[in-house]
Amino acid sequence: MTNVIVVGGGPAGLSAALFTAKNGLETTVFDTDGTWMHKAHLFNYPGIGSVDGSGFIETLREQVDDFGVERYDAKVTGVESTDDGFVVSADDETHEATYVVLATGANRDLAESLGCAFGDDDTVDVGVDMETSVENAYATGAMVRAEEWQAVIAAGDGSAAALNILSKEKGEHFHDFDVPADAERVFGSLVDDE
Ligand SMILES: Cc1cc2nc3c(=O)[nH]c(=O)nc-3n(C[C@H](O)[C@H](O)[C@H](O)COP(=O)(O)OP(=O)(O)OC[C@H]3O[C@@H](n4cnc5c(N)ncnc54)[C@H](O)[C@@H]3O)c2cc1C
Repeated sequence: MTNVIVVGGGPAGLSAALFTAKNGLETTVFDTDGTWMHKAHLFNYPGIGSVDGSGFIETLREQVDDFGVERYDAKVTGVESTDDGFVVSADDETHEATYVVLATGANRDLAESLGCAFGDDDTVDVGVDMETSVENAYATGAMVRAEEWQAVIAAGDGSAAALNILSKEKGEHFHDFDVPADAERVFGSLVDDE
């Protein structure tokens, strides 16, 4: 089965995981809980008035858990590409993946060891689809930017990577569009109306 391993559980990684799991891809997140969000308080996340960064991450964790994401508190020590995809090492075990999404904040060590190309500013080189120079390996969030370190941008990067993976899997451009009837189907009621 196609599966996605996400390394890093900040806004970028959890956003990628949300989109892939919600749309049927087996998704695993490894994270060491060092997200900068624990130091932040958001006033600038559109649609959210004011939220403590740790509270935001806790809600996002619950959201991905609800869609079946497997989350592990473990440091990834290596990512290698193989003929079939990737082998990810964590906690003295190896895990196979079809796609890898790197979302390790400002730490770019895994991208470097995987052989991803870097730009002149020492960030990981990606396009708008967040794919690196290594096919099916994506880099998202703070690791692809020298500045513009904002939660909403990181979350956007993660979702862009996930939509590109989903487009590859579906064989056509994929849009994650939901309508009110979907909310009723998933949650049993139109929660905004309550
Ligand atoms: C003091 C402060 C205040 C801020 N205030 C705001 C604000 O008001 N508004 C705003 O939009 N942004 C703010 N930010 C920035 C925001 O926190 C970042 O833009 C955002 O967290 C970046 O998300 P990310 O997912 O790229 O990385 P991160 O949130 O840093 O997440 C990376 C995750 O990857 C994990 N990780 C790293 N390496 C590994 C590995 N090898 N294996 C497993 N896991 C790994 C880390 O433990 C971490 O949990 C603030 C940042 C700071 C420091």
